[in-house]
Amino acid sequence: MFESKPFIISGPCSAESLEQMKASAKAMNELDIKAMRCGIWKPRSRPGVFEGAGVEGLKWAQEVQRDYDLKVFTEVILKEHVEQCLDHEINHFWIGARTTTNPYLVEEISKTIADRAKVILVKNPIAPDLKLWLGAIERIEKYNPNATVFALHRGFSTYSSGEYRNDPLWDIVFHLKEIRPDLKIINDPSHIAGKAELVDSVAYMASNLGLDGLFIESHPQPELALTDSAQQLNFGSLKNLIKNLPIKKANQQLENDDLNILRDQIDIIDREILKSLQKRQEVIEVIGELKKENKLEVFSLNRYQASLRDRVASAEKMGLSTRGIEQIYRIIHSESVKKQLLISLEK
Ligand code: PEP
Ligand code: MN
Repeated sequence: MFESKPFIISGPCSAESLEQMKASAKAMNELDIKAMRCGIWKPRSRPGVFEGAGVEGLKWAQEVQRDYDLKVFTEVILKEHVEQCLDHEINHFWIGARTTTNPYLVEEISKTIADRAKVILVKNPIAPDLKLWLGAIERIEKYNPNATVFALHRGFSTYSSGEYRNDPLWDIVFHLKEIRPDLKIINDPSHIAGKAELVDSVAYMASNLGLDGLFIESHPQPELALTDSAQQLNFGSLKNLIKNLPIKKANQQLENDDLNILRDQIDIIDREILKSLQKRQEVIEVIGELKKENKLEVFSLNRYQASLRDRVASAEKMGLSTRGIEQIYRIIHSESVKKQLLISLEK
């Protein structure tokens, strides 16, 4: 199931009827997809709407898993869900973003699974908190040493995420990879994009970055879906997405002189940046001494705002990312202030 990279898990946001589940399973067979997702219990932000088919849906899941030779993945939120799934031969689970937020619940679900699941996917928590995500993965691994555990990246709620429903914040994914190089990471482009027309570009980014799998919502008739209607793909779009997926080699394996020459250039440029930062720090220290002698405050709001505006305007003229340069300059400024604070405290 996980041999190809990226491997695909797809299916509806929610199981809605036996007919819908059969139509989805048939499409998965035709697209040679071996794993189907479907939500049975749906934790919705606000009450009063469809909250999943429950145990009835598990019967549909069990039937299609058997008749279409698929592995069905579903979300378990309460410990009772685990037992109900296992009673219906469903043993591929995911932990949802709202559950990952709660270490106590994750621990309880993990203990209840007690190594009876084949695969467990752990979604990132809603907030950009890597520790919480990592902690949930560790809690799941603790009681399930024989299960295959993957991280599932569904983006983060940052209040205003711009064009996407959830901001991908790829840096957090790179950081997770750094801490746990052994862990496979799956991307959920559907919950990041929030709109069907943006799903393929997020999936291609994940694939270009070398992530291991894709978890994509699809539906026989997305416009009629009871949950997440805007972001589910119809089977034609899913087929196109897969057909156009960029398949990349791990770039460490590339023996390519052109790439190596360019990387050498980057190394030289980075050393120049570091030398400039060193020179900058020397000046900052002299200024720090001067401020101390003259009993001046270390932080000056006017100077801070004016220099930030100037750097961002220059960045724009130079074709650099204004958002990126603003972030870099805020860090440089904050490090300079810290340096001068230390000087002000010296006896
Ligand atoms: C889902 O995958 O259908 C889901 C509810 O996702 P999340 O936990 O990422 O919101
Ligand atoms: Mn969904």
